[in-house]
Amino acid sequence: MEIIGIKAIPINIPLKQPFKLAYGTHLEYRGVILVIKTDSEIYGIGEASPSPKITGETQDTAIDVMEDKIKPLLIGKNPLNIEKITDELDSEFSGNTSAKCAVDIALWDILGKVSRLPLKDLLGGGGDSIETSITIGIKPIDNTIKEADELVENGAKILKIKIGLNPKEDVDKIKELRNTIGYTPTIRVDANQGYTVKEAIWVGRKLEPCDIEFIEQPVKFYDYRGMKCVRDTIDIPVMADESIHSLQDTIRAIREDICDLINIKLMKSGGIKNAIKIAAAAGGAGIKCMLGCMSETKIAITAGTHLAIATENIRYADLDGHLELEKEIVDGGVITERGENRISEKEGLGLTLKSCIETE
Ligand SMILES: [Mg+2]
Repeated sequence: MEIIGIKAIPINIPLKQPFKLAYGTHLEYRGVILVIKTDSEIYGIGEASPSPKITGETQDTAIDVMEDKIKPLLIGKNPLNIEKITDELDSEFSGNTSAKCAVDIALWDILGKVSRLPLKDLLGGGGDSIETSITIGIKPIDNTIKEADELVENGAKILKIKIGLNPKEDVDKIKELRNTIGYTPTIRVDANQGYTVKEAIWVGRKLEPCDIEFIEQPVKFYDYRGMKCVRDTIDIPVMADESIHSLQDTIRAIREDICDLINIKLMKSGGIKNAIKIAAAAGGAGIKCMLGCMSETKIAITAGTHLAIATENIRYADLDGHLELEKEIVDGGVITERGENRISEKEGLGLTLKSCIETE
């Protein structure tokens, strides 16, 4: 079997509502769909969600990299040699992890179709669903409570609340939220690097009585000492997100003892293959992982859901990025209902691009 071509398709989809987090507000998703074609009927579908702030990519740079660097490297290769291809991409050029992720997801989709198995069965097996948090961006207290109420009403069991812009407001908001919705839904919070170390410790201590599952990335991504200091001082588990992209970051985080938990994202790691390595290394150090996401369509969210279901050390999922988007571009794939992501037994990712997406 041989790869004969690729097609990179830019996708712009407005968000249902502005999504505000500590480092900015998003209005639109600008991603890239990648189709890898083979000399058989079988093709694979992948996705890149480039992010200037997180992966250092834009939609344009991701497409350029796919056309100029990835395409020549893929043509003529056997798509089933996933380890070899992803290793080669990583050693040929650094960064560009969302573009690499698109390749990796598409290759797994091909393997699933060739072997006629759903992706999760290739990755270790498991059930057909996983609980996911549903995220609420930064907004005034009243709006946060209203949205949380609606989500819980619709079956959400885990809420992820974005914080990190204003320590006092953040504490008031979470306390008020607990007063209103009670202690049944799990609450996790994500500061997206918004605090200084002192602010993070102040917020963490104040939130200790609120039964918070964990706090994500309280301080700047490069501040490993600060992460450790917060972790050692507050009783809420600290999860590293922006601090950890690669296996190398994971090893450093373990050595420097900076976190209780790690948020793996396919767009940061460069795909499933590298995510598996991060989860394994973390597991060896007793650190449990979450599979998180960026703004993504069902393509990457479905891949993430299969991986999270199949991987023993991925204990948490935050795979709701597709819910923010105003329109669907695929048929099939993950279904999110009542706080759960459910997948089918269909081969590969189990999805097809809608006919409005031009793949030729
Ligand atoms: Mg995060």
